[in-house]
Amino acid sequence: MLRSLILAASRSPRISRLIETAPISRDVVRRFVAGTATEDALRCTRELVDQGLRVTLDYLGEDTLRPEQATATAEEYVRLLGELDEAGLSPAAEVSVKLSALGQVFDEEMAAEHARAICGAAAAAGTTVTLDMEDHTTTDSTLEILAKLRQDYPRTGAVLQAYLRRTEADCRELAIEGSRVRLCKGAYKEPESVAFQSKLDVDKSYVRSLNILMSGRGYPMIATHDPRLIAIGEDRAKWFRRQAGEFEFQMLYGVRPEEQRRLAADGYQVRVYVPYGTEWYGYLMRRLAERPANVVFFARAVTSKK
Ligand SMILES: Cc1cc2nc3c(=O)[nH]c(=O)nc-3n(C[C@H](O)[C@H](O)[C@H](O)COP(=O)(O)OP(=O)(O)OC[C@H]3O[C@@H](n4cnc5c(N)ncnc54)[C@H](O)[C@@H]3O)c2cc1C
Repeated sequence: MLRSLILAASRSPRISRLIETAPISRDVVRRFVAGTATEDALRCTRELVDQGLRVTLDYLGEDTLRPEQATATAEEYVRLLGELDEAGLSPAAEVSVKLSALGQVFDEEMAAEHARAICGAAAAAGTTVTLDMEDHTTTDSTLEILAKLRQDYPRTGAVLQAYLRRTEADCRELAIEGSRVRLCKGAYKEPESVAFQSKLDVDKSYVRSLNILMSGRGYPMIATHDPRLIAIGEDRAKWFRRQAGEFEFQMLYGVRPEEQRRLAADGYQVRVYVPYGTEWYGYLMRRLAERPANVVFFARAVTSKK
């Protein structure tokens, strides 16, 4: 119920304006977001890399409706990749890209061309791109664009969402040589016709999908904070004899940082998803929807005078 309300609010321009202009202390946003500028992204990446972690950077923004905004987003990614390279932070850092931020909603071809330019910049910097997955109406389009990009940039990564009923089949398609697949639970409000609704069904789907990816020939990226699923991931690595370099765990910046360091200290590859930029609203609302404790933390900060 609370989750549905928050996810509905995440799509409301009125509530967005209200929250964006509320006197929120910098600390709330800073807990989940590296900062607003490219240098914040670089500083945060350096700190995480120094702790033995890897990074995927997300320049915040989604559902872009203006071509010039899509172009500006693509240009920021290209600039960021150049700076990561110069700072010696690639290949430890890659980028995560939302096609909707590149104009997928109104011009799929343009979005694909922008994504291609970002993949080119990533390849020049010796690193990779992962295409984030958004709501289910974009899944086919995103996977089609991914397939085209992979012809020239075979290490371009996909994201599959365990809550979608189709995901096991998509895992089978993508568990192939060289294919990087991030498996997550899924963060959008989806109808029952396409998505499992209960936590138990989503978790069971996650494990079935994980089994397909871990027993396949690609490179699985296990994106979850769920202790049970992380333990199952560790177990499957042993079961399918995957070495540390043959899969990785992924978590969001600001969520379970001790667990991120614990896994890295145990010899696993761990990548932290680090968002930055001024368009933090939709991202932050999805994080709040995932965990009631975050809502309390957020509400306290919004109402606090500090
Ligand atoms: C690297 C990464 C990339 C992602 N990319 C996408 C994407 O492209 N598309 C998409 O739809 N979604 C994406 N997501 C979001 C994902 O779909 C989930 O919404 C999100 O990860 C929450 O699910 P969970 O697996 O952590 O499990 P949840 O069911 O949210 O949490 C399970 C358990 O994890 C623990 N936990 C969770 N949060 C916390 C916390 N803050 N502190 C302490 N314990 C906690 C608790 O024990 C909780 O019971 C991504 C997630 C990650 C980690």
